[in-house]
Amino acid sequence: MAYPVGISDFTRLQLELTSFCNAACPSCERAKYEVLPEQIYKKFLNSTEISLDNIKKWLPLDKMTSLRNLHFCGNIDEPTLHSDLFGVCKYFEENTPDHVWIHISTNGGTRNKEFWEEMASLKRTLIVFGIDGLEDTNHIYRKNVRWKKLQDNFRTYIKAGGDAAWQFIKFKHNLHQIEECRKLSLDESFVSFNTVDSTRENFEVEAVETQLKSDSCVRCKATYFNHELEKSFFIDVSGNVWPCCWMATKNVIEYQFVPIVGHKFGHFLSNNLKYEKFEDIISGEMFSYLYDHQKDFDVCNQHCKENISDVFTWDIEEQWKNKRLAID
Ligand code: SF4
Ligand code: SF4
Repeated sequence: MAYPVGISDFTRLQLELTSFCNAACPSCERAKYEVLPEQIYKKFLNSTEISLDNIKKWLPLDKMTSLRNLHFCGNIDEPTLHSDLFGVCKYFEENTPDHVWIHISTNGGTRNKEFWEEMASLKRTLIVFGIDGLEDTNHIYRKNVRWKKLQDNFRTYIKAGGDAAWQFIKFKHNLHQIEECRKLSLDESFVSFNTVDSTRENFEVEAVETQLKSDSCVRCKATYFNHELEKSFFIDVSGNVWPCCWMATKNVIEYQFVPIVGHKFGHFLSNNLKYEKFEDIISGEMFSYLYDHQKDFDVCNQHCKENISDVFTWDIEEQWKNKRLAID
C-alpha cells in the first residue's frame, strides 16, 4: 500500500539538526551508542550536523503546502549546538508562510548571552526548555546541565523578548516540585508550563508508573492529527527520512535494519536525502514497505499500540498562540 501521507499533506516536520549534546540523560538514545560497534556509531556522536545548505537543497518548501509546524528535536541532538541555528530559523521564517511555527527543544545549558539574545529576535520561533525540576533536582536526569547556566540562558532569552515554554518530565524525584516549578515559570515569564508523563526506561532514575493504554492494532501516529506527532516526517542528522523519530531509532538499536530494508529497494541509503528527493522517498517503495509492516515492528507496537512512551497532556502551540493573541 502506498504511504498515506504525501509531500503536500504533512503538517509537521521534525529535524535532528546535530549529533552534539552537552548533557547525558540516562534514557537518551545517546546512551545506547555506548554498546554499539565502535567503528560504526561511537565516533558519530558529537561530530556532525545538517548544514543550512543541505536544508535548502533537501526541503522543497514550495511543495510542502500543508506544513505548519517545524520541530527541532532529534533522538541524539541538542539543537542549540548547531553552528548556525539562528540562520536555520531565519531561513525558515523568511521562506515559509506566517502560519508556520518553529519549536526548538533544548536542555537550556548551552551557548552564551549573545546567542540567546539573537534567538529572541526571531518572530515565529518558540524555545521549549526541558527543565525537570529545580536547582537541586534538574541535574538528576538532565545530567551535566548546570543550573546557573540554564537560569542565565532562559532569563536572557525571555528578557530579550523570546517566547519560552517550560517542559517538565515527571520522575519520582521531582514530583513534589511541580507546583513550585509552575509558579516559578509564571514568575520568570514563560509562556507555558507543561508536564510530561514518561515511562521511558532508565537504570538510574525512577520513572513514575502510569497506566498504559492498549489498542488492538497499530495506528500510525505519524499519519493523523494527535498531540504527539500529527501527519509528520522525521529527518535524522545523516539525512535519512523516517515516518517518525521512533522508527529512526531502529537505525541504531537494530543496526542491520536499514541495510536490510534499504537493499530491498536498490541500495541501503534509499531513504537518504543525499541521494534521493524528499518527495520521491516518501512516495517510494521503502515507505510503502515500512507502512505495510508496522504491525511487525517492535517500535510501532510499543509506541502506537501497546504502550505510550510519553504522554503530553498539553498543546504548546495553542497556549502560545492564545498568549500572543492576548498581547496583540
Ligand atoms: S538533552 Fe536531549 S539529546 Fe541531550 S542527553 Fe538529554 S535527551 Fe539526549
Ligand atoms: S512508531 Fe511506527 S506506527 Fe508509530 S508513528 Fe512511527 S512509524 Fe508510525
